[in-house]
Amino acid sequence: MVENKLSVGKISEGFVLDHIEAGKSMEIYKYLHLDKLDCCVAIIKNAKSEKMGKKDIMKIECPIDFMDMDILGFIDHNITVNIIKDEEIVDKMELHLPKEIKNVIHCKNPRCITSIEQGLDHVFVLTDKKNEVYRCKYCEEKYRGKK
Ligand SMILES: [Zn+2]
Repeated sequence: MVENKLSVGKISEGFVLDHIEAGKSMEIYKYLHLDKLDCCVAIIKNAKSEKMGKKDIMKIECPIDFMDMDILGFIDHNITVNIIKDEEIVDKMELHLPKEIKNVIHCKNPRCITSIEQGLDHVFVLTDKKNEVYRCKYCEEKYRGKK
């Protein structure tokens, strides 16, 4: 299959994120704070996909309990998360919209306490699952960054 022609090598422990919408891998890189972590990351952009046309794939080598993948549910719950141990896929993680997001997105309301008080956690709560609406826990300002 064409899809698997490009291989960046096996990883012994970590995650392979598949079916990422083409171009979104850099966003995920940022959300997972991979720039600040000392793990090995391979990003494959615009891989051919029969299902999606084009897709991104990410391979992250790290201890699996080390990484919080819940945030991926917020970014795109169609991403396939393969959990790798000893170079084999041992599990697939199902992604859901997280009920709460902490310190990932920030409240834009200038009067919100998180804008005034430094060092406060930025917490958003899922208030409408159907429409994927998140609101600031403190001032209920709606998060507008997501379509
Ligand atoms: Zn707020």
